[in-house]
Amino acid sequence: MPKAQETVLEIDLSALNHNFNYLKSKLQPQTKFLAVVKAFAYGSDSVEIAKHLQKLNVDYFAVAYAKEGVTLRDAGITTPIMVLHPQPLNFKTIIDHCLEPSIYSPHILNEFIKTAEAQSQKNYPIHIKFNTGLNRLGFKESGIDTIISKLKNTPSVKVKSLFSHLAASEDTNELDFTRLQIERFNRVAEMFEKKSDTKPWLHLCNTSGVVNYPEAHFDMVRCGIGLYGFGNSAKEDNNLKPIASLKSVISQIHEIEKDETVGYNRAYTSTGNEKSATIPIGHADGINRIYGKGNGFVVINGKKAPIIGNVCMDMIMVNVSNIDCKEGDEVIIFNSDYRASNLSESAKTISYEIITAVSQRVKRIFLNETQS
Ligand SMILES: *Cc1c(COP(=O)(O)O)cnc(C)c1O
Repeated sequence: MPKAQETVLEIDLSALNHNFNYLKSKLQPQTKFLAVVKAFAYGSDSVEIAKHLQKLNVDYFAVAYAKEGVTLRDAGITTPIMVLHPQPLNFKTIIDHCLEPSIYSPHILNEFIKTAEAQSQKNYPIHIKFNTGLNRLGFKESGIDTIISKLKNTPSVKVKSLFSHLAASEDTNELDFTRLQIERFNRVAEMFEKKSDTKPWLHLCNTSGVVNYPEAHFDMVRCGIGLYGFGNSAKEDNNLKPIASLKSVISQIHEIEKDETVGYNRAYTSTGNEKSATIPIGHADGINRIYGKGNGFVVINGKKAPIIGNVCMDMIMVNVSNIDCKEGDEVIIFNSDYRASNLSESAKTISYEIITAVSQRVKRIFLNETQS
């Protein structure tokens, strides 16, 4: 691997194969796999990741917003794509690009039917979302009758699946609550099937649901974070490989005398003869200011260098007083040895946040493209 000479996000597609196969190994052979590629495939690159997963015969994709689905269609992705959080403004775009909306409220159902009828659609696939306890998006159980009566009055849409989302599938202290959500989902699905005399697919589990609740895989699972190498627990992290490594380089080293300060607002004061290194990555690249003032670190020549002072828009300064290094040396922000989850813990956040924060300014490099 050539050393990074600028800030890059290296994406190892063989690690993606590994994670996909590991998660699939947790499923029954007939259970379908939906890959969640929202937010640029969790900060990596939605087009390259979707192309690769399509080659691996993934069954479905999901994005959060319509625009993300349009990007995938424009790149030639033909696998079905669900849009988890559409707005009525996007409904025509959704139909024009063969995207499949999550229908989460009576208002959204009415509006989508209107658009589908205006576009002369027949049996356009939709996915009905139920709220079983997360209280974010979804119909109440009591909404079933309204949904079914609306559907009976139009040939334009057809329910392809019913789904819900778990609130705390990674948290073993919340076993009872998660089981309650599973029970509510089972009840809602049974009632819907009976009243509508149809049998849509059912799906409930995200990554942690897949590993912790094998009894709730239903017809399909929806995995995001696991594909990218994080399992929300030390045990599952060991079974998965982070696909992305964020790397940079030392631009300049400064010798700093006692009582000199470093960076904006003079937020760091040297306690003796010290050495700082300036790295070309800042809050505009995804290194939130929370990582400043010693809360985060980078790794240089195998040693941890704390971020000192405030994070700038385009740069950070790190303390390399005890590190043998020179200008041009490679800097690791996270990789498979120094996991993004370690960095996020030091700043009291989660892996999801640090990986999705890597901005589009950072160049993406793909490794092991041909292995599949
Ligand atoms: C983001 C999302 C997922 C994926 O969750 P992970 O924890 O990343 O596996 C699944 N379902 C819905 C509805 C989501 O919004």
